[in-house]
This record gives sequence, structure tokens and C-alpha cells, in this order.
Amino acid sequence: MIYKRSSALFAEAQHVIPGGVNSPVRAFKAVGGDPVFVKEAKGAYLYDEDGNRLIDYINSWGPMILGHAYQPVVDAVVEKAQKGTSFGMPTEIETKIAELAVKMVPGIDKIRFVNSGTEACMSAVRLARGFTKRDKIIKFAGCYHGHSDSFLIQAGSGAVTFGSPNSPGVTQGTAKDTLLAEYNNLEQVKEIFEANTDEIATVILEPVAGNMGCILPAEGFLEGLRELCDAHGALLIFDEVMTGFRLAPGGVQELMNVRADIVTFGKVIGGGLPVGAFAARNEIMDYLAPVGPVYQAGTLSGNPLAMAAGLAMLTTLDNDKKIFNRLSEKTEYLHKGIAEALNKHNVVHTINRLGSMISVHFAAEPVTDFASASKGANETFKKFFHGLLNEGVYIAPSAYETWFITDALSYEDLDTTIAAVAKVAPDLK
Ligand code: PLP
Repeated sequence: MIYKRSSALFAEAQHVIPGGVNSPVRAFKAVGGDPVFVKEAKGAYLYDEDGNRLIDYINSWGPMILGHAYQPVVDAVVEKAQKGTSFGMPTEIETKIAELAVKMVPGIDKIRFVNSGTEACMSAVRLARGFTKRDKIIKFAGCYHGHSDSFLIQAGSGAVTFGSPNSPGVTQGTAKDTLLAEYNNLEQVKEIFEANTDEIATVILEPVAGNMGCILPAEGFLEGLRELCDAHGALLIFDEVMTGFRLAPGGVQELMNVRADIVTFGKVIGGGLPVGAFAARNEIMDYLAPVGPVYQAGTLSGNPLAMAAGLAMLTTLDNDKKIFNRLSEKTEYLHKGIAEALNKHNVVHTINRLGSMISVHFAAEPVTDFASASKGANETFKKFFHGLLNEGVYIAPSAYETWFITDALSYEDLDTTIAAVAKVAPDLK
């Protein structure tokens, strides 16, 4: 495929935008080459500036679970835009989407909307610290919770792709309050709790991780964290920015029947507009300003266009729960097809999947945490990425990312993808 215009646009962008991109992982730094510039997208496809059509498995890094330019979302946004784009005053639609989210997600009474997943996680941790009157948090290597200071400690995905597990600019003072554990290592979390009696405010994690590839919690891991938090008076935060409204209508809490104290959202909840949210039971949410003492605010929070997009998205997911089964079936089909194509050419690999999340790792051993995921971030992945791109299949330009399956993908698209993998496979050994 030809990417002449994309490359020219990238060269131009680099003069005025650092690295030519507004979020680092959009650059192809980990895989080499110039990023593709998108012109438009519809359903399962991206159309780039050179006129190529690409089957999209990134889907804006998660939000577009129903495919691009999903008509009810587009209509809702267009209709709202005619009536004013921001007021900084309460609107009815904020309550409507809040009511729907509270109905769909187990264990939450109230929800507050912000503008990104980063803001949601940052605010959730502040709330947990205020509520427990403690400072320290436990996070897991390879889990990403946005780019707020406390989280940029072995943050997986983009941060690791760029070789900066701990970003300069995060003060020692902040970093010392973030205690790090290995994903799926319950024993280690127990030890950290014991070494920091009455100091841990919260344990935050992706209950199914998506920022070191797709990594499932080991049996008993989430339940064990729940017990440890209860035993030590800490709050458990599930970062469901990626998994919320994706793996089930009520997210991982519903799917795996474990309750968090605070849940954060982003991506799908905004239907492709900038939205994040955090939610909890009354006792915790009423600790937030203006009711309680923990401050949190936002000029554009609850923005009417964003709320309209989110409401249209959640309404579809609430009305047609079979979407979640369809997505799982498509993911399973893709998994089988890719595995067959790679096995035929003896390409060493591991595939992880759950619901509509799937990741292909060029590693021999099971991928269960950040260390094992890192073994698949190799030359083979780069060849795989560029080989697929050349065949018109667009996956994330980093070995630490998850592919997202959408309702817009047809079985024909999946077959095209599997055929592309089969074509690329002989070069991967
Ligand atoms: N939490 C998780 C699990 C994420 O995957 C992300 C983004 O990828 C974030 C938080 C941060 O969200 P945002 O990029 O909207 O700030």
C-alpha cells in the first residue's frame, strides 16, 4: 500500500506538534515507519489520506465498540450541537446517562462525569485517599491508568513502548506513595499491605488488563484483592476504562462477580467523544464536593455533545445485550483463524482473549503479567504489524496493546484478516 500523503502530513505535523502526534503511541516509534493519517472512518473501516481502506482493530483505542460513525451516536451529537455546545450549567441529559449507567453497572449509586479516563482514575484515587485518610496506593506493573503523576510508575502500553517506565517530571514525593506489585501476584500484595499497616488507601487495577496485551486475572486474584482490601480498610478501585460496557453491560464486576468500591470508566461510555467517569456507592460518592470535602471539577465535564454520544451508545448496549455474545463469538473465530495460520508455519505465539479483547504475543510461554508480556515485544511483532498493514489490516503499533473487536466487523472482514495473517506468517519465523 502507498502512504505517500500520510508521510508528507506527518513531516508537516512534526514541525508544530511534538513527534507529530497528540498522544505518543499514535507514532510508530515501537514498530518503525510513519504513522497513517486518517481521513474518515465508517463501520469497520478506516479510510486514510492516501485512499487506502484499512480494517480497524484499534477503534480509537476502545470506544468504537459498535464501529465508526455509528448512526444513532452521530445523529444524537448533530442534534445536540444545533442547540449549543457547552453551558457549564446542569442539563437533563447528564442525569439520563447517569441513571442508565447506575442501572447497568452493579454496586454503584452515583457517578460523576469527567473528560477522560486519566481524569477518572486520578479523581478516583483522590477520593479514595480522602475517604480513607491515607496516602499510599498499590498499582500493578503493566496496568495503565492514564498519565496522571501517581500512575506513571511502570505503566504498561504507551509509557513502556517509549522506554519510560517512570516518567521524568514525576516527583520522588509522588512516586514514593505508589507501591508496585506484579499483576496476578496476590502474595506480593499481601506482603505490601503487611509492610504498610494502616497506610494503604487503595488498590487500583485493570480487573482484566488491556495495556500489556489482554491479560486475564488468575483464578481468585480479584476475590483475593477484595478480601485484602476489606481486611486492611483500603478501597478497591477497578479501572474499567477499557473493560466497562465492553466485556459485559456491567463490566468485569458483572462478568466475574467481584465488587469494587470505586469503578472508573472512559472510552465506550463516551461513544467516541471525550468522556470519563467514576462511580461508587453513596457513602463514598457523597465525600465529593459539593457535598463532601474532596474537590474535583471540570469546565467541560458533562458536556452535552459528549453526554448525547454516550447516552446513544449505552442505550444501544442496554437494549441489545446479544451484542456482547456476538462480539465474543467473532473474537473466538478470529482467535482460531489466527492460531491456525501461525501454527501452519510454526510461528511461536500465545493468544489471549476475553469477550471482544484479544492480543497476539510472539512469546512461547503463557502471558500472565508484564514480565511475560515483555517477551513478546520483539522483532517478530514489528514484522507482523507491517505485514498486516500492507494487507490493509490495522492493529495497534505496539506489542503491549489489545485488539478491539467491534459489532461492525463482518465475518468476511475476519476472513480477510485471517488470510492476511496467513500471508504474513511465513516471514515471521
Ligand atoms: N485506564 C485504562 C485502563 C486505559 O486503557 C486508559 C487509556 O488507554 C486510561 C485509563 C486513560 O484514559 P484516557 O486516555 O482517556 O485518559
